[in-house]
Amino acid sequence: MLLYAMLAGSIVAAGVVMTILTVFYKSPASENRQLREERSRPSGASDFRKRWVLNALLSLGLVGGLTYGLYPYLFAEGPASLTRIALEGLAMLALYDFFYYLVHRYPFHEWKVLRSVHAVHHVVKTPSAADSLYLHPIETTLGLSLVWVCTGLVVVVAGPMSIYSFGWAFFVYSMLNVVIHSGLRLPAFPFAPINYLTERHQKHHVGMNAKNYSSVTPTFDLLFGTEVRSS
Ligand SMILES: [Zn+2]
Ligand SMILES: [Zn+2]
Repeated sequence: MLLYAMLAGSIVAAGVVMTILTVFYKSPASENRQLREERSRPSGASDFRKRWVLNALLSLGLVGGLTYGLYPYLFAEGPASLTRIALEGLAMLALYDFFYYLVHRYPFHEWKVLRSVHAVHHVVKTPSAADSLYLHPIETTLGLSLVWVCTGLVVVVAGPMSIYSFGWAFFVYSMLNVVIHSGLRLPAFPFAPINYLTERHQKHHVGMNAKNYSSVTPTFDLLFGTEVRSS
């Protein structure tokens, strides 16, 4: 039960942050904080709402279903050392960062079938936080499933993962997914690292060949020469 409570807490927190950032982005007060001037999108408000609701419900179902179905194989309850909690969470996020980079760069950007799936997300050229849920449902399913696949890989090596490790790593994953779409330059202190991730993802949305594929850290873009800093 505790793990479900932690995951629900992460989802609620991400939803609150998404709402605040989106409302601020749409208000005149954000004029000097927008990374790029907002561009209109080809699809209308009702299409956005339909996709948003579909993906929000699908995400809730997948998070609940994957956790419920895989709980006996992946997770350990009970006390765990802070070192273990830190390392397991970091290992899962590092694996996710690597595999998401590969999936995003090749199937989503180069392979014909999934490129058309991912193109839905790229319709938005100047995203705001709510656009983190403007996706094809296949992309939502693949992206979320990858979190549990990476958890499984950690479990294969290190044994069942503490629910606390997964709890904080899922919080970071959910929150980053929202804030990198904010389209906003927040005050440098304390948000400079977030601003960096947001700016590079904003550049990624400019087109299907804009690079900057990774989302948690820029590590694999830097390693494989796909990091783009200039506008
Ligand atoms: Zn992309
Ligand atoms: Zn995006």
